[in-house]
Amino acid sequence: MKKKIAIIGAGVSGLSAAAYAAKAGHEVHVFEKNSQPGGRARQFTTAGGYAFDMGPSWYWMPDVIERFFRDFGQSAADFYDLVPLDPQFDLIFSDGCLSVPRDYYQLRDLCESLEAGAGRKFEAFMLSARYKYEAGMQDFVHKPCHSWWEFLSPKIAASAIKLDLLTGFRKYVKKYFRHPWLTALMEFPVIFLGASPKDIPAMYSLMNYGGLVLGTWYPMGGFYQLILAMKSIAESQGARFYFDSPVERIVSQDGRVESLVVQGEAIHFDAVIAASDYHHTESLLDETQRNYDHVYWQSRTFAPSCLIYYLGFRESLPNLKHHNLFFEHELDAHIDDIYKEKQWPRQPLFYACCPSKTDAGVAPPGHENVFLLMPLAPGLDDGEEVRELYFNNMITRLEKQTGLTHLRSLIDFSKSYCVRDFVQDYNAFQGNAYGLANTLSQTAVGKPAMRNRKLSNLFYAGQLTVPGPGVPPSIISGKIAANEVNKLKQIQYEGAI
Ligand SMILES: Cc1cc2nc3c(=O)[nH]c(=O)nc-3n(C[C@H](O)[C@H](O)[C@H](O)COP(=O)(O)OP(=O)(O)OC[C@H]3O[C@@H](n4cnc5c(N)ncnc54)[C@H](O)[C@@H]3O)c2cc1C
Repeated sequence: MKKKIAIIGAGVSGLSAAAYAAKAGHEVHVFEKNSQPGGRARQFTTAGGYAFDMGPSWYWMPDVIERFFRDFGQSAADFYDLVPLDPQFDLIFSDGCLSVPRDYYQLRDLCESLEAGAGRKFEAFMLSARYKYEAGMQDFVHKPCHSWWEFLSPKIAASAIKLDLLTGFRKYVKKYFRHPWLTALMEFPVIFLGASPKDIPAMYSLMNYGGLVLGTWYPMGGFYQLILAMKSIAESQGARFYFDSPVERIVSQDGRVESLVVQGEAIHFDAVIAASDYHHTESLLDETQRNYDHVYWQSRTFAPSCLIYYLGFRESLPNLKHHNLFFEHELDAHIDDIYKEKQWPRQPLFYACCPSKTDAGVAPPGHENVFLLMPLAPGLDDGEEVRELYFNNMITRLEKQTGLTHLRSLIDFSKSYCVRDFVQDYNAFQGNAYGLANTLSQTAVGKPAMRNRKLSNLFYAGQLTVPGPGVPPSIISGKIAANEVNKLKQIQYEGAI
């Protein structure tokens, strides 16, 4: 039966929830505090002709994204040109560079060239990663995770051992590879899950399959094309969007949400999907209606925040690929500074994205569009001085890589983004960028619950609940939340916007 549904937030999960809820026949209204859709995946353009994707740049797990389009009778190709990157990315070490080819067999041979026997081990590793990916996609990620009972089935029990749930990722990788370049290659994808390879179950080697084997892709025009496509699909299903419209309060009565307060006006809804950051959403509720208190949030392991520089260069930069990982230092030292010491990294690794290598449209002719990203502990004080310090560190290493000692003088656009910007723009708890870390205890039922335990018609979606951080999981999260709303009993409602 048709319900009047509010979605809070037009990030990936909010867009997905809006599209699925509208497709199910509901009247859907999406409220977004910012002036454009996308949330962490927004884009901004400059007067000088640059277009910067603000967040995601690794288009991995393309099958999950394509499934979203297929659910609406469309394909990504109806909206943008999706191109494979080859090489997929470069890993830059202190003693050389590993350029990761797109072709599976070339990648296998590259492993073999670095370590005798590693080619065969690569195949075994990826066979198991493929199993985990397929089992994960079929049996795990689409569950609302209200309770572990959902996982009690003979099929899931049979697959539990093969999923390596109880083996640590670091230990697992070491069983296959010894060469430091290969262990770095296999370990770095879990950084996307906001966790240390030491603390994450080996099950997440599924990411290696979803990335390295399914390939690294780029939507021409930038990642934001996915956002525009998702919004267009949600609108075609009937969803309505309201920008510059932060939800100020969630009003409840008798165990149900009654209305949302937007720009001082209370608007009645039958159900709400909050796709805004979980901690913030709960702050819109009376304290007695929240799922979690302050102590709970303080006890969670958050995924990193990051320092980002969006840079325009008036010349093309040599020796850079589309994706470049500057791994000249130990991964563990940086990871420990994020999770253990919770301090600015002493030996930072960073990532440089240069989409203009693939897409001339994101920079003025002959110029280069560069995005530098350094992960760091959430909650740090991020004044201009410290940003500048790390900017100089990254630029010096870029100069070494490009062989251009006058790189600073080529910059014609620069904007930094860090902890306090995540707080201000997205109401992010401690300025986290990627939500919660996917440690074992914060996986599935261990994540903040998808439904409010006190208000029967309030659901949560997004990277802080199931299945977790990243664009593909956020799409799935919105779909699960919309399904949960469909399960609600028929409710009468009054009033309209
Ligand atoms: C720098 C960076 C790089 C990343 N790189 C990748 C990558 O390469 N590949 C990948 O797959 N993933 C990547 N991710 C992760 C991915 O972007 C996120 O997991 C995903 O976009 C989260 O979507 P979401 O809908 O959960 O949250 P958000 O995108 O944060 O959406 C929440 C929305 O709610 C809005 N909101 C908040 N409060 C209110 C309110 N009171 N009222 C109304 N609206 C409100 C916010 O403005 C926001 O638009 C990256 C993230 C970051 C930050």
